[in-house]
This record gives sequence, structure tokens and C-alpha cells, in this order.
Amino acid sequence: MARGADVIIIGGGIIGVACAYALTRAGVRRVVLVERGELGREASRAAAGMLAPQAEAESLGPFLDLCLAARDRYRTLEGELRDATGEDIEYCNWGLLYLVDPAEHEAARGRARWQREAGLRVEEISGQALRSLEPLLNPEIGGALLFPDEAHVRPCAVVRALTAGARERGAQVFEKVEAVDFIIGEDRLRGVRAGGETILADSIVACAGPWTGRLLDLVGHGLPTEPVRGQIVRARFDRPPLTHLVWGPRGYLVPRLNGELLIGATVERAGFDATPTLGGVAGLCEAARAMAPGLMAAPFDKAWAGLRPRLPDGLPAIGRFADIPNLYVATGHYRNGILLGPLTGELIADLVVGKEPPLSMEPFSPDRFAR
Ligand SMILES: Cc1cc2nc3c(=O)[nH]c(=O)nc-3n(C[C@H](O)[C@H](O)[C@H](O)COP(=O)(O)OP(=O)(O)OC[C@H]3O[C@@H](n4cnc5c(N)ncnc54)[C@H](O)[C@@H]3O)c2cc1C
Repeated sequence: MARGADVIIIGGGIIGVACAYALTRAGVRRVVLVERGELGREASRAAAGMLAPQAEAESLGPFLDLCLAARDRYRTLEGELRDATGEDIEYCNWGLLYLVDPAEHEAARGRARWQREAGLRVEEISGQALRSLEPLLNPEIGGALLFPDEAHVRPCAVVRALTAGARERGAQVFEKVEAVDFIIGEDRLRGVRAGGETILADSIVACAGPWTGRLLDLVGHGLPTEPVRGQIVRARFDRPPLTHLVWGPRGYLVPRLNGELLIGATVERAGFDATPTLGGVAGLCEAARAMAPGLMAAPFDKAWAGLRPRLPDGLPAIGRFADIPNLYVATGHYRNGILLGPLTGELIADLVVGKEPPLSMEPFSPDRFAR
């Protein structure tokens, strides 16, 4: 394994591999990534892959700006990754139907209003128009908002493509190598102990998902990352049964190009237990039945769970600590790590190479929990 690096990245989920990709793209030569298990096997594999800031965000502000910039970045990233690696990330710009309960009608109109004022595309869809767009949806659903610019990707393909792109430019990526300690110098970190070796480095990026808090305890920085379990059920069709993402009050439906249909996702505090449960699966099937009863005849394929990394305010931490200037953090992406991953990598790369990031990083400073 490498004994020295310009940057060591700890964690090989989507955030870690996106950092490796962006750092090598920015010209950083010696990038080393250590992943204690297999790349992208935790939350990043469990994810549905929606790029859906207009459905996720509750208001205007820096978080929505970050998410919209991240969604835009995918438009060009798709071709860039295909050219560089031959990998197809299955970017589908199919739009999202945000189903509206009669009781939620006013809230949905409010959402449509503030989004239009911000220049975003939103269409209000009647129940009848909804059924001609998606005949499988429950005829009792009174209407929806259509966000035509929402999209989705296949998360494991994104992880594969970013990893291949980083390796292509010289990054060294190691699996089954756990970072167990830091080498602490006077005013900065000097390296990492991992896989029984010492790797010295100019900069270190911690992106270990919900385990980042434990990792940073080793340098006395208590970043309060917590795991939030999400379960998903997969059904199989011969071809996609829907032509949009569908977002309901109790769950969502994500159709994939090959006919897989994902029904997601639970939001549960279950510690570090990433096992799907009967209750979780039953609840997701009920949510799917309420949205599209006709789906219930489809063959059940699989269920799984993953642990979303969450910080107390629900925002990611992307940046560095004021008191350890060569320790960077990229975590807490919670429900939006697939969306935010590639842009997060680029923001970290900007900070590492001393370039001004295109967005204000202040709201996402990891130091906000120390204050
Ligand atoms: C059910 C579900 C659905 C989701 N759907 C979406 C979606 O539709 N759209 C979206 O944008 N996001 C979605 N997400 C969220 C997204 O999956 C996460 O935000 C994202 O995957 C987090 O990536 P990460 O790299 O921070 O964490 P992880 O994927 O957990 O990766 C962290 C990695 O660090 C490694 N690690 C930990 N400690 C060490 C150590 N000491 N040394 C070396 N390696 C270490 C771990 O093994 C792990 O591989 C979903 C999540 C879930 C669970």
C-alpha cells in the first residue's frame, strides 16, 4: 500500500469515491482512498437514486441551492463518466409526480408557488391528467404536482463510474482496509494508520458515513453523525411500469430502465442495524398499494436496508475544521447523498487545492456543531 499521499480519503461510499474522482480531476496527483469493506456497499448501494431536490426541500435557502446545483451537475456528469469509463449511470430525466392528498392541497399549492417564484418548473396536474400520464396510479388520487426536471440514476453504477474515473487518473483505491487512527502532529494531522501501515498525507478527508463521528472522536472532534435506517422493496416487471418517479405521502416509487421498481423508503432510528424487517416491508407494500393498487400483482424480488448518515440539523457537513486545517469532512448527506455526492467531491477538491468554491460553504461548515 502507498506510504505517502497528497490526500487520503477515509470511506468508499459515494461521497468518498466522488472526492477521489474530483481531486484527481482537479490535478491532485497522489490520492489514496481506504474503504474498510467493499466500495459503495453501505447506504450508497441501498439508495433509490432519486435526484429530487424539488420534492425533498421544504423551502428556499442554501440547502435547496446546493441540491439544485448538484442536480444540474448530473446532466453533464453522465456523458463525462461514460466517455471516461464506458460506464452508464442510467441517468433518467423522467420527472417526478408529487401526489397531493386532498388534506395537503393548500400546502402543495404553496410549494408550487415558492418554487415557481424561484424560477423552477412546476406543473399542477388534475386527477384526470394524472391518470393519462400514469394509468396504473390509484384513480382516487385527486391530483399532483409535476416537477419535470427531477431525475434518477442507478447509485451502484455511479459509485463504479466515479471509482473507475478516479483510478484512471491515478488514484489508489483500497478495499478491506480500515482507518483505525490518525497520526497527530503539532497543529495538523500527519497521516492515518490503516491496514497495519502508516500513510503520511498532506490532507485527510473523512467521509465514513454515519461512522464519521466515531472516527473523529479519535482527534477530539465530536461530529454528531447518526444512522437513520431506510428500507426498500424491489418488484420486477418486464419493462418500466411507470414513466415518472412517483412521490406519495407515505413512500415513493422509482422505475428503472430494466423493469425493476423500487418502493421506498422507511425512516427509522435503529442504531447501526441495517437489516430489513417484516414491519418495514409491510408498510412499504401498503404505501405502494395506496399509490398504485395494480402493482400488487408484480413479483416480489428483494428487500434491503441502509443507514443514512444524518447530522442534527439535517444538513451535510462539507468543509474543514478551523483548528485542524488539513482535516476535511464530507458527511451527513442524509436522504440526498446520491444527489449531492458528485458536487460534494468537487467542493472538497476546490477547498483542498485552494480554489474558491462556487457556493457559500458557511451553512455546511463542520464547525457549526462546536459553536
Ligand atoms: C433506503 C435509502 C434510500 C435512499 N435514497 C436516496 C435517493 O433516492 N437519493 C439520494 O440522493 N440519496 C438517497 N439516500 C441517501 C444516500 O444513500 C446517502 O446519503 C449516501 O449513500 C451516503 O453516502 P456516504 O458515502 O456518506 O456513506 P456510506 O455509503 O455509508 O459510505 C461510508 C463508507 O465508509 C466506510 N467506513 C466507515 N468507517 C471506515 C473506516 N474507519 N475506514 C475505512 N472505511 C470506513 C464504510 O464501510 C462505508 O462504505 C438513500 C439512503 C437509503 C438508506
